[in-house]
Amino acid sequence: MAKTFNSLNPVTNKVIGKYPIQLDKEVDLVVAQARIATSQWVKLGFNGRKKTLLAWSSHIIKNIEEIASLISEETGKPLSDARLEVSIAVSHIGWVARHAEDIMRTSHRAPGALMANMSATVERSPVGVVGVIGPWNYPIFTPVGSIAYALAAGNTVVFKPSEFTPGVGVWLEQSFKTVAPFAGIFSIITGFGQTGAALCNSAINKLSFTGSTRTAKLVAAACAAKMIPVVLECGGKDPVIVASDANLDRAVDATIWSAMANSGQSCIGAERVYVDKKVAPQFIAKAVELAKTVKAGAPGEGNYGPVTMPSQLNIIASHIKAAIKDGGKFAYGSAKSVQAPFVQPVILVDVPENSTAVREESFGPIIIINTVENMQEAIKLSNASSYGLGANVWSKRQGKKIASQLHCGMVAINSTFSFAAIAAVPFGGVKDSGYGRVHGPEGLLEYSYARTVVRTRFNLPINFLSFKRRAKDDRLVIKATKFLKGRLG
Ligand code: NAD
Repeated sequence: MAKTFNSLNPVTNKVIGKYPIQLDKEVDLVVAQARIATSQWVKLGFNGRKKTLLAWSSHIIKNIEEIASLISEETGKPLSDARLEVSIAVSHIGWVARHAEDIMRTSHRAPGALMANMSATVERSPVGVVGVIGPWNYPIFTPVGSIAYALAAGNTVVFKPSEFTPGVGVWLEQSFKTVAPFAGIFSIITGFGQTGAALCNSAINKLSFTGSTRTAKLVAAACAAKMIPVVLECGGKDPVIVASDANLDRAVDATIWSAMANSGQSCIGAERVYVDKKVAPQFIAKAVELAKTVKAGAPGEGNYGPVTMPSQLNIIASHIKAAIKDGGKFAYGSAKSVQAPFVQPVILVDVPENSTAVREESFGPIIIINTVENMQEAIKLSNASSYGLGANVWSKRQGKKIASQLHCGMVAINSTFSFAAIAAVPFGGVKDSGYGRVHGPEGLLEYSYARTVVRTRFNLPINFLSFKRRAKDDRLVIKATKFLKGRLG
């Protein structure tokens, strides 16, 4: 009998479900079935796949209460947050179903003077079987950003959900089955890291990973050994820059929400604020006032839920400790704010930039607010991070100018999180936050490769690509190169 593991409710510790730990052979079998399904899925064409994906999104919407309560049970987040997450995930499925054909349309390229007798086209082909490894913090939104895009491009998908949210993964697979025209298009495998490792070692053609930077490096190394290309969506330490002309009420409201919602367990959550000294006292005072109204608690009782992964509690506590030891101060909360499984809001100020609390991802409802002399300093400190996922800029007049100088994958001006909900724009980071993109046309094209097809339209009297090439043909090429100043191609 296969070994199993339990999915636990992080608030009550009660067992919600039991799932198999699938290892090498079983994973290989699921991937082999996905491989068999690829040709039929490709044959369905964009229209057929669109119909299936739209039917899937309708099914999810119809059953939103069921999946939202499962998400809430497995992660501990409030039901309304879970519903919002499902809605955004569904909007991504709909967007990619409707736009895949256009984005992947064959493009015609100019062949250049030397090859004027050729037609040159570039097609986009699906890669085959895509493996997706997901985290637990947004157990439907995050994986769907890879799964739906890979499916729309004509690939079949094998998904390994986090061991903290296997139930949501199984629900996704079951829901897809209700609309799937045949088997093997979208399947899941369950288990711990070893199951993910087995997927990296299987016969997949591309892997899309979302999770910590530490695991991403292991995944990239395993895939490199098999020449499997990867998309890596990893952690962040997102900065918030607040200029002196910012709308402070809105900036505080969005920043505290960005930092504390989902118990701070958001890759694009605000972790550090750089506020202009002219408005810093007001910003901090308003942030503290707001934090006083925000409470962690069980679904239905708090503004946000518990820390889903028990081991993260130690990291959050250690960052609070480090911030204070290194010279930072509490503006709100204390070391006692960590009350497993919950962490009440913590606001730290004046934390030295070399503190672990400023450098490493905390992934908890704590925020650091540091005061800066000017926007140049804010930009410099924002960029002085090993991460480069998202950033928020608050300013009435200088938003675009500041944003253009930030070294990261996404910037929201006078807003937070919004880029994740706009299906048309790519999502992803630079540096330790990963590489490759999900969402938008770029996120769709990740699951395809460019295939060039050139065709002779008519024959020229000269054939350069032949042993029959004559000396006068060479002279003609040199002459034309000189005349066109190298613009032959
Ligand atoms: P994690 O790295 O611990 O696990 C992610 C997944 O990888 C899980 O399914 C896990 O079972 C699997 N895994 C573990 N070891 C593996 C191995 N050796 N080979 C293959 N797979 C393996 O991350 P987590 O705790 O689930 O998620 C939290 C992290 O995810 C945070 O750092 C967060 O910032 C990041 N995240 C990033 C994004 C993004 O889009 N950039 C989105 C959500 C979360």
